[in-house]
Amino acid sequence: MAHALPRLFSRRFCQPAALPRSLNSTSRTSFRTSIRNSPSPASRRGYASGNPNSSPLKVWPFVGIALAGSGAYALMVKSRVEMPPTTEQIAAPKKDTPTFSPSSVTVLFVLGGPGAGKGTQCANLVRDYKFTHLSAGDLLRAEQDREGSEFGDLIKSYIKDGKIVPMEVTVQLLENAMTEVVEKDKDHKGKFLIDGFPRKMDQALKFEETVCPSKFVLFFDCPEEEMQRRLLERGKTSGRSDDNAESIKKRFKTFVETSMPVVEYFEGQNRVVKVLATKTPDEVYKETREKLEQRLGKNF
Ligand code: AMP
Repeated sequence: MAHALPRLFSRRFCQPAALPRSLNSTSRTSFRTSIRNSPSPASRRGYASGNPNSSPLKVWPFVGIALAGSGAYALMVKSRVEMPPTTEQIAAPKKDTPTFSPSSVTVLFVLGGPGAGKGTQCANLVRDYKFTHLSAGDLLRAEQDREGSEFGDLIKSYIKDGKIVPMEVTVQLLENAMTEVVEKDKDHKGKFLIDGFPRKMDQALKFEETVCPSKFVLFFDCPEEEMQRRLLERGKTSGRSDDNAESIKKRFKTFVETSMPVVEYFEGQNRVVKVLATKTPDEVYKETREKLEQRLGKNF
């Protein structure tokens, strides 16, 4: 995932549409000026009709304009590439249809409070059912640690505070990762477990509208005391900046206030498969398989 966002920038920031409005209007003005200063229609017509009496020198104004135009365009592109992006600017261009069709790509969202065991159960499903596991948290941590990332500091402070990283970053990281998997194996029927996502309504809507509609949410339900016990235990060795009592408290608050409404939204559409996550990992996995088979059929 090391090049996740640069791929976005090269696609997005090297297109005129990504120009800030001010730069766009400047370039439009200079384009109009160059049109106004171009040779008269009469001389253009003389050249175009191939008039044998017209002098070959009349070509030069056109060549001059073309050279000036390409020089201005090159400068414009260069200045755009050097501009630091904002999170608003990294929003993918507006699309009418999602990048992936749900008839060729299967997406299951995996939700649950911090410490509910999402990662453990996803690893089991990857082993037994050949899913690709994409953890939003892992992708964000990788981007945070990537040398030269423009979003490293921003992600770091959001994670430490247990807050939801702006959706433009997370959705784009997920889309890039999915594209990479699908492109690598063109015949591969993409089957994705998208873990820790969507944690906020805007992400859910944006992802389904622009990347891929999901089949449903696999929700691991676990009481807070149990999740806290697990996280504090994990914190002894995980080295994660947010596995400490203070961050855990903030993460729970974010989960209850921001992520549970997402689960309720999907529940209202009968798109939640709920698994009780308090038992041992093996027992939780047994129930997970049974419920997924009920929903997707034996060979999902
Ligand atoms: P996790 O690894 O799933 O426990 O997530 C760790 C942290 O990463 C969260 O507390 C958030 O700060 C951030 N994060 C994870 N998933 C998302 C997401 N879908 N949207 C925004 N931020 C996220």
